Amino acid sequence: DHGLSEADPEVRAIINKEKERQFKSLELIASENFTSRAVMEAVGSCLTNKYSEGLPGKRYYGGNEYIDELEILCQKRALAAFHLDENKWGVNVQPLSGSPANFEVYTAILNPHDRIMGLDLPHGGHLSHGFMTPKRRVSGTSIYFESMPYRLDESIGLVDYDMLEKTATLFRPKLIICGASAYPRDFDYPRMRKIADAVGAFLMMDMAHISGLVAASVVADPFEYCDIVTTTTHKSLRGPRGGMIFFKKDPVLGVDLESAINNAVFPGLQGGPHNHTIGGLAVCLQHAQSPEFKAYQNQVVSNCRALARRLVELGYTLVSGGSDNHLVLVDLRPLGIDGARVEKILDMASITLNKNSVPGDKSALVPGGIRIGSPAMTTRGFTEKEFTAIADFIHEGVQITIEAKGLASGSKVQEFLKFVSSPDFLLTDKVSN
Ligand code: PLP
Repeated sequence: DHGLSEADPEVRAIINKEKERQFKSLELIASENFTSRAVMEAVGSCLTNKYSEGLPGKRYYGGNEYIDELEILCQKRALAAFHLDENKWGVNVQPLSGSPANFEVYTAILNPHDRIMGLDLPHGGHLSHGFMTPKRRVSGTSIYFESMPYRLDESIGLVDYDMLEKTATLFRPKLIICGASAYPRDFDYPRMRKIADAVGAFLMMDMAHISGLVAASVVADPFEYCDIVTTTTHKSLRGPRGGMIFFKKDPVLGVDLESAINNAVFPGLQGGPHNHTIGGLAVCLQHAQSPEFKAYQNQVVSNCRALARRLVELGYTLVSGGSDNHLVLVDLRPLGIDGARVEKILDMASITLNKNSVPGDKSALVPGGIRIGSPAMTTRGFTEKEFTAIADFIHEGVQITIEAKGLASGSKVQEFLKFVSSPDFLLTDKVSN
């Protein structure tokens, strides 16, 4: 048996290049992070070889003595990391990632064509919360369920709770979803709970982006108000790529969430759990209970505030005016440029972030904003000072983009810059997460 370099130098070389890219760039994608060597070791271990359909003690395969031990440990650590009472909350650690976790919840508590309300994607929500355009039901969630998104009050960049309340009263959803991919503020959980109760809906929080901040108690606690909480494990939580679903143990609206959710995960939508991921997750969740983790999450928020402060000083418009969490959303439209071009220009300078739609955007393909996150570079040891410098670097990139847009033809450089400002340049478009 050979190591990777010997067995497959081609893949090894690609991994080496990616490693170098990660090492050299300023990683500012709000949903990314650098997980620890210990987590990577577990993920790269023999745990990947084992089939273990079912739950601990109730498997469809033999040889699961140690896998059971691992999954029980992971569940215990998950509940402890989020300060949950084992008698009141349960958790399923098998979801393969965030989108499957969400769909598993919908499968558990909804019937096909039941009504749901989540934050609209152009206003910061996630695809899996029911995104659709006027022409197309884009996400599976909107294909199998009837989705009526709620939105931000565009004048202040905050969730329009009054409108949500009015719409929910008419639409009468069975599920209301809190949580977002590009929202720089906390959700008002007490208000969302009140709205859900008034219409008899389940309340779910998808804390994928902020789960590390929740574990460290540096943002509001969704568990106090929600019936179900889903998350990815690889963003601010800094674990391996995966997902988790937390559920109340007492029945909610007559539904036994524990059995409904466990059954939706397996056999409903998944087969064998990814035990290597569960191993890595257990490692991550142990670390998430440490004082260092809390200090890290405090630094994530503090760095993000420093970044926001400097951007405002430089004259930028931030959606909602600032940030309470790990990300800022910059509205570039007042400068006459879009997020797609700025993303490309910064990429060339090894500054990695993503274009993002901002409230009021006309085009999702060429959105008017950029999203900047602090978790990854905080893991790399950056503090407020470096994040202030990052704001200055981004400012330079924006200036170059503005100049590029104004140039006509001429020298090679000018031709390049003209290309950068042409629609062809945007062909490599991708949906941000
Ligand atoms: N939920 C939210 C709020 C997200 O931001 C994301 C991804 O970025 C997901 C779910 C989906 O996670 P995954 O990409 O692991 O399916």
